[in-house]
Amino acid sequence: MDAEFDIGIIGGGPAGSTAASYLAKAGLSVAVFESENFPREHVGESLVPATTPVLLETGVMPKVEEANFPKKYGAAWTSAERRPIDHLGFRGLDHDFRAAEILFNERDQPGVDRDYTFHVDRGKFDHILLKHAESLGAQVHQGVRVGKVDFSGPLPVLNLQVGRRNTPVPVRMVVDASGRRTHLGTQEKFKVPDPIFNQYAVHAWFDGLDRKALAVDKAQADYIFIHFLPVSDTWVWQIPITDTVTSIGVVSQKKRFKEYGGDREKFFWETVASRPELLDVLKNCEQVRPLKTEGDYSYAMKQITGDNFVLIGDAARFVDPIFSSGVSVALNSARLASYDIIAAAEAGDFTKGRFTAYETKLRRGVRNWYEFITIYYRLNILFTAFVQDDRYRLDVLKMLQGDVYDEEQEPKALTAMREIVEAVENDPTHLWHPYLGDLRAPSAAPRF
Ligand SMILES: Cc1cc2nc3c(=O)[nH]c(=O)nc-3n(C[C@H](O)[C@H](O)[C@H](O)COP(=O)(O)OP(=O)(O)OC[C@H]3O[C@@H](n4cnc5c(N)ncnc54)[C@H](O)[C@@H]3O)c2cc1C
Repeated sequence: MDAEFDIGIIGGGPAGSTAASYLAKAGLSVAVFESENFPREHVGESLVPATTPVLLETGVMPKVEEANFPKKYGAAWTSAERRPIDHLGFRGLDHDFRAAEILFNERDQPGVDRDYTFHVDRGKFDHILLKHAESLGAQVHQGVRVGKVDFSGPLPVLNLQVGRRNTPVPVRMVVDASGRRTHLGTQEKFKVPDPIFNQYAVHAWFDGLDRKALAVDKAQADYIFIHFLPVSDTWVWQIPITDTVTSIGVVSQKKRFKEYGGDREKFFWETVASRPELLDVLKNCEQVRPLKTEGDYSYAMKQITGDNFVLIGDAARFVDPIFSSGVSVALNSARLASYDIIAAAEAGDFTKGRFTAYETKLRRGVRNWYEFITIYYRLNILFTAFVQDDRYRLDVLKMLQGDVYDEEQEPKALTAMREIVEAVENDPTHLWHPYLGDLRAPSAAPRF
């Protein structure tokens, strides 16, 4: 049996299309099988600058720029209450501590040649990336679902499903970029639900929202805003989509959502109402997309590489969207996996050992994200203090830029944050003790 393609890619989201671009550029024969027809809607609209080097390397950046997505220069956090922080030895908290913000241009990032990234309509963005892969020579098949992948023979065989027809397609190597549907992870039973995070999101688009309403600095209206709510482990994203349309999402514990008996309208509006000034802003604009829910999205994989396959993007791992890391992980995992796949093709050997560099770097990057996110949920007051303290600001910014794959040592801000969380957990009289979140981490968090 001969292979029909060198590489068969399951899924044409940002991970799949980026891998297809790298591999096609290297001269490999590549086919992307995508079950939907693009453009299709997708959650995950705010990028971080670690996407820039990948968009430049695949050559798609001019097309992304041409689409005129809103430029994202930074990120801001707001909270309802002033927090007790200035007398605990943190520096730089000389202005209203109900808000914090960072600008990406405060730190030079390797491979990043501009001081902004983008907020994107994922329907358009993902379509641009997929068409780009096609323009580089990848075959793109939309409306084609991949069913079981058969690894029992000398070559993996993708079983393609169009309507009732099943077509077997042998390939030399499979890249699973199926997103949170985790095609191979589920088939091969690699998937492990995260024991700590069980968050739930309800989101929609709104036209005419006043983005400046909760901003301390009105010039920052087009940043991503994370609004903390006075409800445990609960926050709202505010992401510009066009000049007038804004994406708003409420993230909270799944058990809270269940308390509403699954009524997403009631859950969304009552949760937002815990910040009355936010509710006022939302009530004054028009909802232009129905509320959508996202759940069960935190998991890991016991294995992300094997003989003749790799998992990339959300198919490999997803933690939590708090720091907008998902698309950058998708793009960078595609980049790192592609380097190994190209070398494997040159050697004519697609066995697991060929993908060690990819696996090591991806696990390192995701471990940093995981630690950062767990600490954030455990004590988010700490995160805002660290952002504003000049001893740690650049280190935190480095993580927020998505620059997490290259250094073996974890960022020093993470170590310092973990020590403080442990001290606060162990001292019930600590001023911050009442601010501890319910998601018990990091001291109890398994690292995987
Ligand atoms: C609530 C929430 C908020 C988020 N916010 C952000 C954010 O602000 N910024 C950010 O960067 N990320 C965010 N993310 C994460 C982001 O959505 C993902 O990380 C990103 O979409 C991953 O890209 P991907 O290519 O791996 O997967 P996807 O974009 O999901 O693409 C996978 C593709 O595979 C296709 N597919 C699946 N199964 C098959 C099959 N069997 N055969 C053929 N095709 C198949 C699907 O149709 C899909 O098009 C958020 C996630 C959640 C849950």
